[in-house]
Amino acid sequence: MSKNIFIDGKPITFEDGKTVLQVARENGLYIPTLCYHARTGPASMCRVCVVEVEGMRGLQTSCSLTPSDGMKIQTASQRVLDARKAVVNLLLANGNHDCLSCEVNGACELQDAAYHLGIETPAFFVKEYDERDASAAFIIRDPNKCILCGRCIVGCNGQVVNEVLEFGYRDSHTKVICDADLPMGLSTCVQCGECVQLCPVGAFIEKKAVGKARRWETHTVRTTCPYCGVGCQLELHVKGEQIVRVTGVEGAEPNQGHLCVKGRYGYDFIYSDDRIKTPLIREANGFREASWDEALDLVATKFQQIKQEYGPNALAGVSSARSINEDSYYMQRLFREVVGTNNIDHCARV
Ligand code: SF4
Ligand code: SF4
Ligand code: SF4
Repeated sequence: MSKNIFIDGKPITFEDGKTVLQVARENGLYIPTLCYHARTGPASMCRVCVVEVEGMRGLQTSCSLTPSDGMKIQTASQRVLDARKAVVNLLLANGNHDCLSCEVNGACELQDAAYHLGIETPAFFVKEYDERDASAAFIIRDPNKCILCGRCIVGCNGQVVNEVLEFGYRDSHTKVICDADLPMGLSTCVQCGECVQLCPVGAFIEKKAVGKARRWETHTVRTTCPYCGVGCQLELHVKGEQIVRVTGVEGAEPNQGHLCVKGRYGYDFIYSDDRIKTPLIREANGFREASWDEALDLVATKFQQIKQEYGPNALAGVSSARSINEDSYYMQRLFREVVGTNNIDHCARV
């Protein structure tokens, strides 16, 4: 028998094992939240997702609230809105939120929450500012924008298991630190960018993307990472013809949003002037450019000559880890069945 909850008077059927926040989202109802992420789970840290439940004392965090049959929930009562406003105002006050110059302007979950709550200017004064940390190769940390939601810490420790980030210090001095509060560039961080992808605000940003495009100026193109046979799913954020940022596709196999440093930040080669765009044939005076037909004909002719003169085992193939698994599979079929040798390997073995 199906069970129902009533959200703002509307009956909604739910399945066991889901939270009120998940049920609301699946039914297109907006409840702001800053610490919850589908991959890092409920944290009950930010308290922005509070709701009022009939018969329960105090406001409840919907990200950790288990629905029960007949539960009556208010997501937008005055009491709920006042509580959310107070929380968002405190988060804004606890940093330096200069949206006009912020890289995540337009894609910031704190900005969205403030907008939906009608907060035009923060109600409190801001504290003194901390230095930004630009010591790492690809990531800039801006502690002034951190809202201490903890998503990056769960991601770094529990998802990619690099164990770099943690909350350091206490009370109002609490902040996210790398190792024993080292600059990120001197820490054990491997620059995978998991923290950047999970951060709901602009506290972690991609160095290479700074100043390249506002979020609303880009469109996304889904593709497969060219670096190894895992086949991670990428989203290229493109302005005009230029890639300005790369993120992992959330909820997609095989990587579920995770990427390594190469997949996330190694896209400079696309625009490199040194990039080889046509086949090259070596001659006495060096390389000359050739068409694909000419180059492939030459390789096939040479292979046949070597095979006739010395036998198939005089040939060997090494397939590239920068191509997809299927290409490597066809490479071994080509060598075993067409050339007739088992001399086939893959560069990942080195
Ligand atoms: S992190 Fe969000 S709220 Fe803060 S300055 Fe950037 S866009 Fe504005
Ligand atoms: S880039 Fe990766 S390893 Fe470095 S702090 Fe972020 S999640 Fe951890
Ligand atoms: S850096 Fe971002 S993800 Fe990490 S605690 Fe701060 S706001 Fe949350």
